[in-house]
Amino acid sequence: MAKFVTPLGKIDVTIIGHASVLIEWNGLKIMTDPYSEIADYTKQPVADLILITHDHYDHFDINALKPVTGKSTTILSTPVVAGLLPDVKPLKQGEGSTYEGLHITATFAYNIEHKNENGMLFHPRGAGNGYLLDFGGFRLYFAGDTELIPEMRELGPIDVAFLPKNLPFTMSDDMFVEAVNVIKPHNVCPYHFFHLDVE
Ligand code: ZN
Ligand code: ZN
Repeated sequence: MAKFVTPLGKIDVTIIGHASVLIEWNGLKIMTDPYSEIADYTKQPVADLILITHDHYDHFDINALKPVTGKSTTILSTPVVAGLLPDVKPLKQGEGSTYEGLHITATFAYNIEHKNENGMLFHPRGAGNGYLLDFGGFRLYFAGDTELIPEMRELGPIDVAFLPKNLPFTMSDDMFVEAVNVIKPHNVCPYHFFHLDVE
C-alpha cells in the first residue's frame, strides 16, 4: 500500500491486481476495474465509486462488480459499458465528472501498433478510457489499456501514473520506459501484467 497526502486529504492506494486498484480517501473507497480472476471481491469493501476503463472481460466483470457495488455506488465507464449495465454513468474521452470534490476526466487509451491476428487493433481509439483523478491538484493517472499515445503529452503534471505493461495488448518494455519519459510522473506503477515480458 502507498500513502499520499493530497490537498483533499490523505489517500491510501492498494493494488488489488491486474488493472484493479483500491483508493481509500476520507472513508470513501474508489476502485478501478474489479476483476474476479485476480482477487476475491467478496473480501473487498463495497466501493463508493467504481471506474471501469472498457468492456474487455479483464476490466468489465459482473462477478467482480456485484459484491463491491452497493445502493449508493457510482459507476463511471464508457458509453458501451453504460449500454450493457444499467446505472453506469457514461463518460467519453475528454469528458469530466466530479465526485465529492474529486475531479475525474476520461482520457484516451488505445493501440497504435499492436493488432490481433485479423489485423484489428486490440484497442481502437475511442473505445476505451483511461482516467485522470485530480485530488485538488494531486493527480493520479490510470492509463487503461493503451500504448504510448500522443495524448499522453498533454496530460500535464502527474503525481502517480499507473501504466499498463503487457504484450501484445498494451506496452512493450521499451514503450513503457518511453511513456514514463513523456509523462514524467513523480511516481510510476506498472499494472495490467501477469508477468514481465522477457524479450
Ligand atoms: Zn483491453
Ligand atoms: Zn486488459
